[in-house]
Amino acid sequence: MNIAVVGAQWGDEGKGKIVDLLARRFSIVARYQGGHNAGHTVHVGGRRFVLRLIPSGILHQGVTCVIGNGVVVDLAALFDEVDGLAGAGIGVDGRLLISDRAHVILPYHPDLDRLREASLGPRMIGTTSRGIGPAYEDKAGRRGLRVCDLADAAALEEHIRDGLARRNELARDGRLAWTDVFDRTRQLGERLKPWIADVSAVLCAAMADGRSILFEGAQGTMLDLDHGTYPYVTSSNATVGGACTGLGIGPRSIHVVLGIAKAYTTRVGEGPFPSELHGGDGDALRAKGGEFGTVTGRPRRCGWFDAVQMRHAVRVNGFDALAVTKLDVLDGFERVPVCVGYRLDGEAVSAFPADLGRLRRCTPVLESCPGWNRPTSGVQRYDDLPANAQAYLQRLEDLAGVPVVFASTGAAREDIVVKNAPLAAAWFGSELA
Ligand code: GDP
Repeated sequence: MNIAVVGAQWGDEGKGKIVDLLARRFSIVARYQGGHNAGHTVHVGGRRFVLRLIPSGILHQGVTCVIGNGVVVDLAALFDEVDGLAGAGIGVDGRLLISDRAHVILPYHPDLDRLREASLGPRMIGTTSRGIGPAYEDKAGRRGLRVCDLADAAALEEHIRDGLARRNELARDGRLAWTDVFDRTRQLGERLKPWIADVSAVLCAAMADGRSILFEGAQGTMLDLDHGTYPYVTSSNATVGGACTGLGIGPRSIHVVLGIAKAYTTRVGEGPFPSELHGGDGDALRAKGGEFGTVTGRPRRCGWFDAVQMRHAVRVNGFDALAVTKLDVLDGFERVPVCVGYRLDGEAVSAFPADLGRLRRCTPVLESCPGWNRPTSGVQRYDDLPANAQAYLQRLEDLAGVPVVFASTGAAREDIVVKNAPLAAAWFGSELA
């Protein structure tokens, strides 16, 4: 049984925790898109690990981790992460593979990112300025550098000279010398050699051997280049379709699609967000939920759960079920409103609009659910949740139109309740159900 784990909102849904929870039931965990802007946080045994590029499965000894062709790889960031894990006693040798077709982020890509954002003024996207967008632009523009190209010194030199010429033309703050970039990239490319693989072939052989795979998405559905709030999106397909193109697998290899949704909504950066709260409850959600970017530290914008947005995510991903995270953050609220629809110019809007002008003018229709009188924080059995928290999860399930299989009640691995035991048993074994 292979499963895809996909962010159902604007990212930061707690995918890292759910992947960590499920990973040891799979032989392989495979990342299919994004770059080192992802930033999953996993708490294990009192330690906090931030994983940007390497799938969270790396924290489980028997699991092989794979970075697919759909990911853009900053080699220095990758090795920082590898060295950090080694410092915590977690070795990756023999357990980490990088696609030979993955594109490389070069040292001038972050500069191009920053320069672009600065030139957009008030229309800025709010990117993490890590060079991810420009690396994907080079890929789509058919001038990117792939991992398999690192070994060819002459081609690499030409590539870096061309890229730097573009960068140096735009940047006013000093020129980068091509020789420095070349030497550094060569060195890192040498170190990468043992891990380079034809990932599609590796995954297909593993499946033929009966090994199971967890496909790990980064960011979230509403940041997807095609299905998100364009242009305030990331440069790749975070939705489940990205797993096929980003790893070289067929759609029938994905047996279950699990959406990860916070019990409320957050987003980082610019762009419309219909259920956003300004002040009061929004500040309370941010403070209680620790809603500050893992990588950038930026405060996240917070709002209530948005069922219009969620139904869009369920449809474009074909979610089989949801895992709802951060239920405990809603502890203590007297009422927990949910956005059940939008209104635009006096009319009800049922589908998430493509046109951002229309989306910006949508106002949320809120339904108020009662809060709960006991905390859910750290609860590990569904039956131990307060009745109103159970009713809240049931309401989210009804509004989304797919079952809620898990709800997470804290950052630790053990802080999880199973809402749908038959599904959990069928997909992940009886131990988790
Ligand atoms: P990801 O990128 O989707 O993995 O999400 P992040 O790692 O950016 O954000 C999730 C944050 O919430 C991390 O700090 C997690 O440790 C934390 N977290 C995950 N699930 C829960 C939960 O159920 N309750 C609380 N309080 N924190 C959680």
